[in-house]
Amino acid sequence: MTLTEKDSQYLWHPYTQHKTSQTPIAITRGKGALLWDENNKEYIDAIASWWVNPFGHSNTIIADAIYKQLTTLEHVLFGGFTHEPAIQVAEKLMEILPKNQQKIFFSDNGSTAVEVAIKVALQYFFNKNEKRTTIIAFENAFHGDTFAAMAASGISFYTQAFQGMFIDVVRIPVPVKGQEEVSFKALKAVIESHNCAGFIFEPLVQGAAGMVMYEPEALATLIGICKENKVLTIADEVMTGFGKTGKTFAMDYVAEQPDMICLSKALTGGTIPMAITTFTQDVFDAFYDDDINKALFHGHTFTANPTGCAAALASIDLLQTEEMQNNIQRIHERHLSFQQKIEKHPKVVTARTLGVIFAVEIKSDAAESYYGSMRTKLYNFFIDKGVILRPVGNIVYILPPYIMTDEQLQKVYTTIEEAIEMV
Ligand SMILES: *Cc1c(COP(=O)(O)O)cnc(C)c1O
Repeated sequence: MTLTEKDSQYLWHPYTQHKTSQTPIAITRGKGALLWDENNKEYIDAIASWWVNPFGHSNTIIADAIYKQLTTLEHVLFGGFTHEPAIQVAEKLMEILPKNQQKIFFSDNGSTAVEVAIKVALQYFFNKNEKRTTIIAFENAFHGDTFAAMAASGISFYTQAFQGMFIDVVRIPVPVKGQEEVSFKALKAVIESHNCAGFIFEPLVQGAAGMVMYEPEALATLIGICKENKVLTIADEVMTGFGKTGKTFAMDYVAEQPDMICLSKALTGGTIPMAITTFTQDVFDAFYDDDINKALFHGHTFTANPTGCAAALASIDLLQTEEMQNNIQRIHERHLSFQQKIEKHPKVVTARTLGVIFAVEIKSDAAESYYGSMRTKLYNFFIDKGVILRPVGNIVYILPPYIMTDEQLQKVYTTIEEAIEMV
């Protein structure tokens, strides 16, 4: 049996209707921005394997750090024990996070980072004997697939089977250009009519919605409104964190600082699943008490896994090198030139760029659904050409590893241009 045949016998894939989906491609190795399948076909990973891999596949610097940690202390429980890698990650993050972030809590993936933030927002007010139970979120948000994260997410086919079983979430429009006032008004109205505990948002870019972008000034205004009303703000930087927007964090563009930040994806350079939620001292203090019941009773077995911490430390060091910062700038500039070229194409609605994130919206007659027919046609065309891109409906985005070469990037652009002619 081939790997693909064995896969279909045993495995259940994410976001996959196994009856109608194509068989998955078996990847056997990766290096830099490239992956190879079992038939030795080469692919350019133009979406950094779901946005996790900034420094290239099989990166030996991160691998060495992981090996060293694995053969020193691979894991120890974090209840009642601590270790240097966790402390070093905390110290490192304190240097680079917005200055008001003072405490860090470890978990395993983006969804749990969000789950922790939402539970903390709710318990913060419970501990203060204030009845605040509503969470505010953006339309078409994506915050993950666990229950509170799913409740905060607004893309319906992820969540429709569970409607009526969620915590109380009220949605407001995203303040995209021209819609800022509508969004501000909606936020004020929700705060007036509900007992709001927190507002969770993807800062500046909504990834899963198709790289929908909005301005830092608008986000600062929304956060300002929350602050005036003592609503906690949660920046979900799971996608945007660690250089994707051109700055270390998307919140570095924003004049107001959030109460909590969620991190995962690129945190460990795409090697070991790990996540972090960070907090202000004020949030932490609401749980700091002689009463044990005011503690945060949340934890995961692999909390602060030392090997994951070692991978995170090596990744952040890589991010901070001049070489990597230049790479981010280089890709950004190439994206801008490609955007100028492509946005004039008669089949293009709009194109947009922030940092290394680029998206182009292709004209389509019908309202394209997320996994609609144009999407399938585009996806297959890209795979055939050896370029991994996962369009969202009629939106094609690029989120490359920062080490992607100019030649590889050019091939991605050319393939997208060909695809636009084809559809
Ligand atoms: C991917 C993502 C998540 C969920 O992370 P997982 O590791 O897939 O659970 C949450 N928020 C945002 C913004 C994401 O992009």
